[in-house]
Amino acid sequence: MKVDFAVLARQYNKYQAEYEEATLRVLRSGWYIMGKELENFETEFAAYTGARYAAGVGNGLDALRLALEALGVGNGDEVIVQANTFIATALAISQVGAKPVFVDADAFFGIDASAIEAAITDKTKAIMTVHLYGQPCDMDPIMAIAKAHHLYVVEDCAQAHGATYKGNKVGTIGDIGCFSFYPMKPIGAFGDGGGVVTNDKELMDKVKMIRNYGSRVKYYHEMVGFNSRLDEMQAAIVSINTKHAEAGNDERRAIAQKYMDGICNPKIMLPTIRPDCTHVFHVFAMRCRERDALQSYLAEHGISAQIHYPVPCHLAECYADLGYKAGDFPVAERVANEELSLPIYVGLRDDEINYIIETINQF
Ligand SMILES: *Cc1c(COP(=O)(O)O)cnc(C)c1O
Repeated sequence: MKVDFAVLARQYNKYQAEYEEATLRVLRSGWYIMGKELENFETEFAAYTGARYAAGVGNGLDALRLALEALGVGNGDEVIVQANTFIATALAISQVGAKPVFVDADAFFGIDASAIEAAITDKTKAIMTVHLYGQPCDMDPIMAIAKAHHLYVVEDCAQAHGATYKGNKVGTIGDIGCFSFYPMKPIGAFGDGGGVVTNDKELMDKVKMIRNYGSRVKYYHEMVGFNSRLDEMQAAIVSINTKHAEAGNDERRAIAQKYMDGICNPKIMLPTIRPDCTHVFHVFAMRCRERDALQSYLAEHGISAQIHYPVPCHLAECYADLGYKAGDFPVAERVANEELSLPIYVGLRDDEINYIIETINQF
């Protein structure tokens, strides 16, 4: 049997009629940027996350960059962020002219809240929390530290659409929440897309101004902005996928439960769920000391498993000049050496799941 890491066509087939109706509607409308589809999406996405306001933007990296820019984070500022994340989280900080200050991860792959205070300096402006793999960070202590030190909290929700911390959806706990709609994310477009949510009207007005050349009124430019918009076609698609997000999250949670119940091999460390949280399992992240051998073994048996991510940000070549070294963040480095992700997506069949479980149990 052959099991691919991701098969987006299964989600497409499931909602094909809706996607095709929406696509034709947009094509025939004669209006392709900043129109009704985007407005609808923003209303629906705000309702889905429970935030007061939402904005569609060009991609997840831009969502983070626009959020930092709107908060006034820039040259000379520092932003505290976990070392174990997809590089885009750190790139957004660098792109606004600020410096990423890395800290280690906790046992649930989120930022280690107890490591934050030691990283604060008089230049620190914000803490970025990455709800990695689909599981929320420990937000209560993080919000308390932010409050005590007058720091902003930016949530990177690019992998965690719909995940909850003590009953609140991620993205609404800090000052601003940033989402990616890259096709494989829990809510995806059929191309690039991103979203920003906040309860702060002034902040949202700034985000919307910056995404559109820094202008509120056409041809009057208040800020040096970007062009980072969610086009009508992608907005229509992402609206459909927002409507089906909970079904998708439930389906991935059920697959994760089957893996947790079925995988029984002393070499495998299964993921754990933080108390009072819901996990949306964008990634099913196991750990194994013989990770590379396990990945090759699975590949030999037709199963594609991937690594998220082989190099933690503090050791990435692009950040060599920040002066970090191997050993600085032992948890993040252990995750980079031991993590392996199994296929988990809408439409993954029981025969495939069982085959994966049996194959792993014989490793
Ligand atoms: C995907 C991702 C991003 C970037 O999103 P893009 O839409 O690909 O730009 C940022 N942060 C994290 C944690 C991600 O997984």
